[in-house]
Amino acid sequence: MLNSNLQQIGSALRKKNISSVELTQLYLERIATYNPQLNAYITVNSELSLAQARAADEMLASGQAQPLTGIPIAQKDIFCAKGWRTTCGSKMLENFIAPYDAYVIELFNRAGAVSLGKTNMDEFAMGSSNETSYFGPVKNPWNQEYVPGGSSGGAASAVAARLCAAATGTDTGGSIRQPAGLCGISGLKPTYGVCSRYGMIAFASSLDQAGPMARSAADLALLLNAMAGYDARDSTSLQRDKEDYARELDKPLQGLRIGLPREFFAAGLSEDVAQAVEAALNEYRKLGAVIVDISLPNSQLAVPVYYVLAPAEASSNLSRFDGVRYGHRAADYKDLAQMYEKSRAEGFGAEVKRRIMIGTYVLSHGYYDAYYLQAQKIRRLIAQDFTDAFKQCDVIMGPTSPSTAFKFGEKGDDPVQMYLSDIYTIAVNLAGLPGMSIPCGFGANAMPVGLQIIGNYFEEARMLKVAHQYQLATDWHSRAPL
Ligand code: GLN
Repeated sequence: MLNSNLQQIGSALRKKNISSVELTQLYLERIATYNPQLNAYITVNSELSLAQARAADEMLASGQAQPLTGIPIAQKDIFCAKGWRTTCGSKMLENFIAPYDAYVIELFNRAGAVSLGKTNMDEFAMGSSNETSYFGPVKNPWNQEYVPGGSSGGAASAVAARLCAAATGTDTGGSIRQPAGLCGISGLKPTYGVCSRYGMIAFASSLDQAGPMARSAADLALLLNAMAGYDARDSTSLQRDKEDYARELDKPLQGLRIGLPREFFAAGLSEDVAQAVEAALNEYRKLGAVIVDISLPNSQLAVPVYYVLAPAEASSNLSRFDGVRYGHRAADYKDLAQMYEKSRAEGFGAEVKRRIMIGTYVLSHGYYDAYYLQAQKIRRLIAQDFTDAFKQCDVIMGPTSPSTAFKFGEKGDDPVQMYLSDIYTIAVNLAGLPGMSIPCGFGANAMPVGLQIIGNYFEEARMLKVAHQYQLATDWHSRAPL
């Protein structure tokens, strides 16, 4: 069962070969065995999980099952889930029990999925290695000396180690794709606005997007079918007809035009990653695709633009954590100002404080035009590059990250080195485009390599087909670390 895909698990449940309670227990036992080492979950609550599993078994018995009914999945700890502790990886929210469900959670509940727990993440989703989590770093199950990536590192580690059947993540600058790549799983960041941000703790609202993380593209399609949908409570949620993201999976790739941005294969890309990506492109040639040279000339500005805009939005979003409206409150203080000061000083970690300071600075009088406004203008140019590129190709491919997983502490002292690990993913968020990562081999240190697939707006179904056809022809996605 652990190695089955979601469709197989769903059909075993519907045929009553296994009950949701039994399956949930199986995963809870696995979590009890491996989580002490991997630290992929911050919160596990078997009572809540088993209650959901019992309800799912009733849905199954009454013949009202949907594709995900009874399937145990893991939720990133950025989603508010009623009755569940929801920390966002921060001391600030260490004891916060969410009083309501995020829309994504509500949709999974309606589909009858079972939540196994809340996965570990970088604090407020700021990070690329999971080292900024207040609850300690997550380990990469392929080799525990290495980071799992971030910020959805707990989700990626849990999926790779089979501590859940699938998981949710969020991606502001690469946080679904980068950890998926580093842990050898599949992950998809949808077009901005496809999944509601309601109840998803905000980092940078114009970039944040929820998406699925799983063992295969076919699984991602089933999850996205459940997660996507218009929600009036998110003002940027898109009003579109419901679509079946699995509808194109079985179509051939003959004639598919794959654009290779030359900027993604320049200095900074490690040799072993380049080789694995090149081998994947050869596989695509065999499947009938043609490779087209393209250019994204402004993409080298994506990291600096992101590190103006994302902190600017974060500094505003995180102002609500003041020890009054939300979050940790210091024990002793002289007056109101000191209460705010001490609560925030104690509640936030170093990376979050760094972002708040940068964000406050670039939004301040005198610097707003020089930094914030300038960055917004370049953001527009970065998006335009993609629009131009998609006139020549159907999808864009390249590496997800410049290297495979790195060791703990390796980039800790140098935030810029850490920020550069998202160099190929960030432009996609700035443009609001969908992007995904699928495993395509192993690097020099025997750690997984991710292949990034970028699509035009609302091309998720096509991207999933492109990924699925590759996964039919290769077996990287079915390798398991444990
Ligand atoms: N690593 C990037 C950051 O720290 C992206 C994080 C994310 O996508 N949430 O901002």
